[in-house]
Amino acid sequence: MNIARQKGCKDILPDESKIWQYIEKQVREICRTYNINEIRTPVFEATELYCRGVGNETDIVNKEMYTFLDKKGRSITLRPELTAGVVRAYIEDGLSSKMSSPIKLWYVGNMYRYEKMQKGRYREFSQFGVEYFGSNSYLADIETICVSSELLKRLDLSDKVNLEINSIGCEKCRKEYINKLKEYIKPNLCNMCDTCKVRFDKNPLRILDCKEIKCSDILKNAPVITDFLCDDCRKDFENIKMALNKLEIEYTINPRIVRGLDYYNKTVYEYVSKDLGLAVGGGGRYDKLVSTIGGVDTPAVGFGMGMDRLVLLLKEYNLVDKLNTNIDVYFLTDESTYIPIQKYINNLRSLGYVVESNIQQRSFNAQFKYANKIGANFVVIVDKEDFKDNKCDIKNMITGEQFKIKLDINSIKEKIDNA
Ligand code: ATP
Ligand code: MG
Repeated sequence: MNIARQKGCKDILPDESKIWQYIEKQVREICRTYNINEIRTPVFEATELYCRGVGNETDIVNKEMYTFLDKKGRSITLRPELTAGVVRAYIEDGLSSKMSSPIKLWYVGNMYRYEKMQKGRYREFSQFGVEYFGSNSYLADIETICVSSELLKRLDLSDKVNLEINSIGCEKCRKEYINKLKEYIKPNLCNMCDTCKVRFDKNPLRILDCKEIKCSDILKNAPVITDFLCDDCRKDFENIKMALNKLEIEYTINPRIVRGLDYYNKTVYEYVSKDLGLAVGGGGRYDKLVSTIGGVDTPAVGFGMGMDRLVLLLKEYNLVDKLNTNIDVYFLTDESTYIPIQKYINNLRSLGYVVESNIQQRSFNAQFKYANKIGANFVVIVDKEDFKDNKCDIKNMITGEQFKIKLDINSIKEKIDNA
């Protein structure tokens, strides 16, 4: 019986997991320098968390959630995003009294969405995200944008993606805009897609996000939200643009960006791949989410970057050559020397060298072929006679030079280090 992988899932094989590790390493390093702390929350939560947090009328909650009843009949959902879960933890674990404000958190983890698969779109995928709690200043927005743009910079992807920003205002100014938007759309609604027709009543702002050509054509001359911002929201957006200019972080203003989750307000943004037409990440402010989920009113801001799409871009632009593991040394042994040599092999590994050895009990010739195949830089040869004399041969596989040296760690190290 052949049991296949589930649709929309993938196995990350060694060639690719190197890329994942590389990105994750950058993520950890960047977050360390920004003093952002890692948080790990469960992969499943009560369904109610997402209905309330992400919003009942969003695509995620409406169509994309993996929801099931557990053995006691509770409704459980595999996390489709992580902000709601982090907010739940922030409240439930009392982080506001355990850490000092602003509380800066990051995560990397798998998410689950029941979506139509295509390039860069999976049912199990991973996001790196950052959430800041406690600051209502635009400076917190800016710092989080710096984190994501630093990641892109380190991955050499800065010029491959556009940062598109928008402000969707606060509850107050958005209300006025939505009325104007509906007024504009109403005469054309009959020519729009079915989803937009439903959204018109339930979540009109999301109509701006529709990818159907007939709908975006109608929306071309629609009023833009940035013309309706209240003083506070407008000032905030101006500050953000000014700071991005000063920091020389390139961006464009896209008044159609509304984000697919209901909790956002004020500044929102997306990183969009220039060539692949896919969003690589997105974020913004969500000042009302903590109170919506039951906590004390707390301003918050954050973003999520799609790890799978970052991997895709690194592969697309061939930015992954440097990631192959270098084998520093292969130890060529026979039956009598393999075990006694093991402690030298492991000592070198403790010192950080990448060492391979004869765990397949191959012949001498076969071992040479293998060492060549895996691209070992050095081969240390220890046969029975040499071992008795406490000696070994070391061959530089690049230059072809071979030396007889003392069999000890320092002598071997010296040859490798001075190559
Ligand atoms: P899209 O418009 O592509 O559906 P989204 O707005 O639903 O994206 P978000 O909820 O903002 O995505 O998630 C943040 C990031 O996670 C996205 O920018 C994207 O890089 C990634 N992402 C979202 N859904 C998927 C998926 N199904 N497979 C792979 N990556 C995804
Ligand atoms: Mg989506």
